[in-house]
Amino acid sequence: MKIDQIILTHVRVPLTEPFKISNGEITEKDAILVGVHSAGLVGYGESSPMSGSFYSEETPESAWDCLVGELIPRVLQSHPANVEEVNNLMDSVAGNAFAKAGVETAFWDLAAQQEHVPLYKRLGGKRNQVEAGLAVGIVPSIKDLLQSIEKHLVEGYKRLKIKIQPGWDVKPLSEIRRRFGVIQLMVDANCAYTQADLSHLKSLDDFDLMMIEQPLPKDDLEGHAKLQAISRTPICLDESAKDIPTVQRAIEMKSCRIVNIKIQRVGGLLNAKRMHDVCAQAGIPVWGGTMPELGIGGAQTVHLATLDNFKYPTDVEASHRWFVEDIIVPLIEVHDGMITLPEGNGNGYSLNAEVIGRYKVREQQFR
Ligand code: MG
Repeated sequence: MKIDQIILTHVRVPLTEPFKISNGEITEKDAILVGVHSAGLVGYGESSPMSGSFYSEETPESAWDCLVGELIPRVLQSHPANVEEVNNLMDSVAGNAFAKAGVETAFWDLAAQQEHVPLYKRLGGKRNQVEAGLAVGIVPSIKDLLQSIEKHLVEGYKRLKIKIQPGWDVKPLSEIRRRFGVIQLMVDANCAYTQADLSHLKSLDDFDLMMIEQPLPKDDLEGHAKLQAISRTPICLDESAKDIPTVQRAIEMKSCRIVNIKIQRVGGLLNAKRMHDVCAQAGIPVWGGTMPELGIGGAQTVHLATLDNFKYPTDVEASHRWFVEDIIVPLIEVHDGMITLPEGNGNGYSLNAEVIGRYKVREQQFR
């Protein structure tokens, strides 16, 4: 494949409200957009780690350095012919999954455009709509929590997920059940508990949750297996599900009954699709998580979530849920809890140059 140029654009968009999870808080969303130009077409990817030590070890700065110093030069030198070759090329660099996802997903978008099909069809999906779930971070008070849920739930989101941590679990869940009744509800702890908390975590069975996402540290597959053995509630792995061998080991150990697949965490769409296939073969349903990414990355997750074994609502939300402005046209919208992909080849969403101009931090071209 002849690559005419690659353009990296680092943007920073303010959030509509602070996003707080058990191990960090952010008020702005950083993303590096990767534009791969080839014969009049441009495929776009997004490399989307959060700033600071939030969720992953990667940061926008480390991703930028890896893209500029390693990934882009390798791509330009080796002219990969297809997404499999791009994926192999990414494997030649250790770690840096978020940086790799930006490059690899751009080539998927480009490939789908070249073949005149929407990205979801190129991935093997058969539907152009997916269910969306609402996620609410850790907020200062129960009153703030209920207000935030009420404000966003009117768009019909198919389930509610709240972030929990020790001291912020039973009380908010009790209040949510009291106010919102039998709503589909799940929790995400982002690794905040330890094996000392197993009986406490088991007591969350009382709330009839869809799942408990990543209660224990990411390397503690054994602890997750112990918890799953005593809990009625399915355990879902997120941070632990870093690659396919780890997911296979988690399934063998019965550490989970559900897996959250994030394109960023696994380094691109091919790895995500392979993880989906491995889980499907083992009878483990999956769903599509987010960082959340801006619109390019969010839309890619919606495309991916059209695959058969994505059985639960995605974390992708409407563009206006988190971002003061999103960088895509059209915006991602949720109607009656559903996101419908636009017609068109590739990702189907275009970049909004005016918005990007407002939030651009830096840009660099490579030939
Ligand atoms: Mg999570």
